[in-house]
Amino acid sequence: MKVTIKDYEEYLYETYKNHGIDSSLFMKLIEEIGEVAEVLNKRDGRKAKDNEDLIEQLGNELVDVIHYVFAIAALNNINLNDFIIEKDKKASIKYNHKINLVDYLLNK
Ligand SMILES: [Mg+2]
Repeated sequence: MKVTIKDYEEYLYETYKNHGIDSSLFMKLIEEIGEVAEVLNKRDGRKAKDNEDLIEQLGNELVDVIHYVFAIAALNNINLNDFIIEKDKKASIKYNHKINLVDYLLNK
């Protein structure tokens, strides 16, 4: 099964609409970013590790980051799909990329 950006935002809006406080969710996001850092530190030898599946841990922690990013966007009625397209368009010009996301998708 695949999930779209829109579906995930709608789902998280329903999850958090009655009790979600975006500044609290942001604090959770920062915690999760720290957990990503911890996994990368283990992978790269800056932190001790046991016999752990670091790829599985990294995937799970990245999903936690995405969860809170999407939740904050949903509670602020931000259409991430549109922002991703527009931001990439601006960045591709600013950083002189050979192709932007829209062109990539159209030529895919
Ligand atoms: Mg986590």
